[in-house]
Amino acid sequence: VEAAFVSLLKDKRLHIFSKYAKDKELSDFIDFSESKFDELLRSGLADYFPLQKSVKYGKVYIINDVNKFIENKPGSFGILDSLIKNVKRLNLNSCASIPVKRGKKTIGSLVILSKTLGLFDKDIYKLLTIVTDQIKFSLDRFETEKFTKMAIAAMNMGFEFIIITDENFNIVYANERALEISGYSMDELIGKHHSIFSAGEHDKDFVREFYSKLTSGETFSNVMKYKAKDGRVKDFFVTILPFKEGGKITNYISYGKQITDKSSLEHRLNKLLYYDSATGLLNATSFRRALTNFLNEINREKDIGAVGIINPINFKSVNEAYSFSVGNKVLKEIGNRIKREVKEFDVIAKLESDRFGIILKKLKNELDAFIIMDRILNRLAEPYLVDDKQISLSFNSGLGLIPRDGTTVEELLHKATVALAEARYHENKRIGFFSKELEEKAVSRLSLKLNLEKALENKEFTLYYQPYVDKNMRIVGAESLLRWIKDDRVITPYEFIDYLERTEIVVEVERNSLITAFELVRKLASIEKIPIPLSINISKRSLKDLNLYEEMKRLLNIYKIDPGLIKIEIVERLFLDDVDRVSHLMKNLKNLGVLFYLDDFGTGYSSLSYLSGMPIDILKIDISFTEKILRDKKVESVVDSIIYLAKRLGIRTIAEGVETQEQFKLLKNMGCDYFQGYLFYKPMPESEFIELLRRTTNKPTY
Ligand code: C2E
Ligand code: CA
Ligand code: CA
Repeated sequence: VEAAFVSLLKDKRLHIFSKYAKDKELSDFIDFSESKFDELLRSGLADYFPLQKSVKYGKVYIINDVNKFIENKPGSFGILDSLIKNVKRLNLNSCASIPVKRGKKTIGSLVILSKTLGLFDKDIYKLLTIVTDQIKFSLDRFETEKFTKMAIAAMNMGFEFIIITDENFNIVYANERALEISGYSMDELIGKHHSIFSAGEHDKDFVREFYSKLTSGETFSNVMKYKAKDGRVKDFFVTILPFKEGGKITNYISYGKQITDKSSLEHRLNKLLYYDSATGLLNATSFRRALTNFLNEINREKDIGAVGIINPINFKSVNEAYSFSVGNKVLKEIGNRIKREVKEFDVIAKLESDRFGIILKKLKNELDAFIIMDRILNRLAEPYLVDDKQISLSFNSGLGLIPRDGTTVEELLHKATVALAEARYHENKRIGFFSKELEEKAVSRLSLKLNLEKALENKEFTLYYQPYVDKNMRIVGAESLLRWIKDDRVITPYEFIDYLERTEIVVEVERNSLITAFELVRKLASIEKIPIPLSINISKRSLKDLNLYEEMKRLLNIYKIDPGLIKIEIVERLFLDDVDRVSHLMKNLKNLGVLFYLDDFGTGYSSLSYLSGMPIDILKIDISFTEKILRDKKVESVVDSIIYLAKRLGIRTIAEGVETQEQFKLLKNMGCDYFQGYLFYKPMPESEFIELLRRTTNKPTY
């Protein structure tokens, strides 16, 4: 081959990109001016010369005998006559043109010229078609110009190395510094999967996130452990961006910087990477990660959760009216308030702009998501006091339910966002659901809440009393049970207690119940001369917010009754949830002389060991045991051992829900102390209860 040149199409013009010639004369010959080249391309002879043909059709074209070729062409070559003349003069006899392709497009050609007659035989032709593919292959993978520009940009951003892979994570480019740090040569890296750097120190979740993020087109930033050729593992701060062309990812570009002062830098980077700077909450990236983890953890058949997005309406005006610093303080306070309303294991994050995200886990049912969100929004609607300024905000939120609305991060975030938009759109809607059916239920729940508020205002709550008896069926005490009297209808707690216990209203309701119970005890003790202990059910919320100790002290002072006549019923679960705090409260109340009944016993962990030393007066064996005790031997032996162990701890027992003589007899034989149930008495209003006590002549002992 005496001469060769590469021409490239750019802006519809052909340019000579590089050339090769054995001697000066040949070199001058192939040094066409660009205008001539373009004429060549446009001339009616485009289908005649190999150069143009290969550009036009993307194939290899060959002339093996230039003289014969010219003779076969009748007439003149016009503007190309001088060119042909030179070809003849230089004695160039063979010519081949190979298309240069990138993707599906032909972007130029490689022209080879030789003095040898008939140089390009069948075999060489074949070889040239292979060369065509190889050029295409390397161009697809190695877009020098673009990558070099990227590398320079990366350097300017303070990154040290840049590695570019194709869409399959095979390395197509690495800069000098990358080679230096890794210890590999360019040849050793090109074509290798990028996992050649893997130190195998990242766990499965990390790797999964790495790929899922990148392949879905998101940027990935993290501290990565890379292994050099000599096996040494180093820490790098790496950012990888997917590079798209025509909507498809064609490359991944990783920029990296070695972390030298690891501890402080990593800490700083982690803060930057995972937390929101204004609120200190997790950022959007971490939120997605937490959601991914949660979705991987849950049992899709059983577990219920929710993703919520909370958005203050018109938050921008806070920044505008005051300052960013005030705005940031408000955002921080919003975060704190949300935190106080959800469980420890729930996730709160600050997402883009002024949006907050929450993940609610371990929900009992779907409506819980609504109830919790409602509570959060109530708390958030209270005024914000920042730098002596009082700021009022209102909020919207959208909920996506797991698994109902989706089981992937994208799906759930999308649906929560749609739900949020819905809520924003409807003026009287604060919480949007993706599922309309659920929204309707939620709205009716909301009206229940409004009704409960009214019920409290209108004093529609009252107490019924259900006596319990000893082995001789003598009344030894009574449990006070809440009733809602609405338009002459007596509504039992089963219809509303679940919901009531989740709202603040319950605290006020139970404070009132407490006062009512104190009044009745005093009435019974002083007027009727019948001292009978009353037990009062106290919910988890009241246990926290009622300030039970102070309240009891206050009431004991006012009513001057025997503190032993008031018993607090809490469910076993409540006690277990927060053993330290609850046992502290119990001990304080014991000092006042007030003791506890442990309600629904057996439905929790049923471990009696934690009870020793606690001021627990009585265990109430759950109704479900009584129900099954005659039918199920296992239940029978469980109840038997509860009674036995309670005795050894000096704790008495009440069996709940005794409905038949057989149950009564069996429980009595097991050594149960007291019995409560329809067999003896149903819950009754106060007047009936007082009447009953008057009628019964026996003086109960307790
Ligand atoms: P609980 O504390 O386990 O109360 C016992 C429930 O069993 C009462 O239902 C009572 O009427 C019912 N019961 C009593 N004997 C029998 C029987 O022989 N057979 C059957 N099938 N049931 C019997 P009620 O009054 O509807 O209360 C339901 C639940 O509501 C209570 O269960 C308690 O958890 C809650 N509750 C009631 N009053 C209050 C209250 O003032 N505050 C709070 N937080 N919860 C309350
Ligand atoms: Ca109870
Ligand atoms: Ca109970």
